[in-house]
Amino acid sequence: MEHHDAKLDEALAAELARQQNGLEMIPSENFVSPAVLRALGSVLTNKYSEGYPGKRYYGGNEFIDVIENLAISRAKKLFGVQHANVQPYSGSPANQAVYYALLKPGEKVMGMSLTHGGHLTHGWKVSFSGRYYHSVPYGVDKETHLIDYDVVLELARKERPQLIIAGATAYPRAIDFKAFGQIAAEVGAYLLTDIAHIAGLIIAEVHQSPVPYADVVTTTTHKTLRGPRGAIIMCPRIEDRLKEKYHEDSKWNLAELIDRAVFPGLQGGPHNHQTAAIATALDEASTPAFKRYGEQIVKNARALADQLLAHDFRLITGGTDNHLILIDLSNKNLSGGEAETLLDEVGITVNKNTVPYDTRKPMDPSGVRLGTPALTTRGFTEVDMKLVADVIADVIHNPKKELVKESVRKKISELTQRHPLYAGLS
Ligand SMILES: *Cc1c(COP(=O)(O)O)cnc(C)c1O
Repeated sequence: MEHHDAKLDEALAAELARQQNGLEMIPSENFVSPAVLRALGSVLTNKYSEGYPGKRYYGGNEFIDVIENLAISRAKKLFGVQHANVQPYSGSPANQAVYYALLKPGEKVMGMSLTHGGHLTHGWKVSFSGRYYHSVPYGVDKETHLIDYDVVLELARKERPQLIIAGATAYPRAIDFKAFGQIAAEVGAYLLTDIAHIAGLIIAEVHQSPVPYADVVTTTTHKTLRGPRGAIIMCPRIEDRLKEKYHEDSKWNLAELIDRAVFPGLQGGPHNHQTAAIATALDEASTPAFKRYGEQIVKNARALADQLLAHDFRLITGGTDNHLILIDLSNKNLSGGEAETLLDEVGITVNKNTVPYDTRKPMDPSGVRLGTPALTTRGFTEVDMKLVADVIADVIHNPKKELVKESVRKKISELTQRHPLYAGLS
């Protein structure tokens, strides 16, 4: 059975070394546990199981049912929801399934604009969500760069969307899901909260939970939640408002609509190795250690922000409440793309990002986005983050000095050796 694939092995080993030896600061990335890796690399990948536990279209699913039920019950318990679907292949298909379940093509959705921190699937024009639905995006305030809930309410009153989406991919502050709940209730819209980035923070109780306010909650499982690539769609309450709304003709409740949208609406067989890895990650997320980890992510982000401010970096909103920081580089004579490349040269991985009201083009925006979840998993604490901010400043302030880069590489090597990653893997 052994098969040698030298080219692939080489790239895989190189990627492992890159992760071990660099500073991973993309806020949507993380390092899963060896247990999650084991589930992902298991024989579960061999099995077809279209349908749901107890209602499959293929035989031989008795053990798959056990695994999927474990993932479902753990998700329900951890987030405090009545229904969970763990089959979406990833975050974007999960959001697509919610649209498919709740809306007809052409109906109105109101999500945060991509250029202000929202996700592609929240109504951006090149995504299905902006092409097949009528998107009326909201943004952040021009001065504060914060969501202005009064402005969102005004827009909702004027536009009367069927669906409001709360959640973001590049917003460094806490989101007031309760305020979104009130807005949605006032205009009779569904509220979808997309907690892809902050699910781990919500479990650790360092961010408000949307569960009391949302009709549907989606999350990826691979960001702060620290599981495999994947997603979960949750319904806080199954007894829902569908009947009073324009779905009064529907014979399905909210949970059934979601399940039917995922399968057979959009997907075929679930990825059972992924489901098992989600079950593992949810088990890990229910421990006191995970709560401490979530708390440390936020402490680390604050320490990083404080030291970047000390180096005269402009941070969007002046700082952070969560795991991520958005730097506006316009006072540093570098574009976001240039900074990304420069930091890559010394082994710091970040991503270029538009800042709200960016004056540069989206392909080469003014900002970079960086976060602390992956470094926190490695055991980095506030003192380390201060050093990380110092080396970022060294590189950005000396883009052409090889000697500076050399000394930064040495400091990074010391940091990564102090906090080893995947020590047993090769
Ligand atoms: C990452 C993200 C997604 C999409 O997840 P993919 O797994 O990349 O498809 C959706 N919504 C938000 C807010 C995200 O940050």
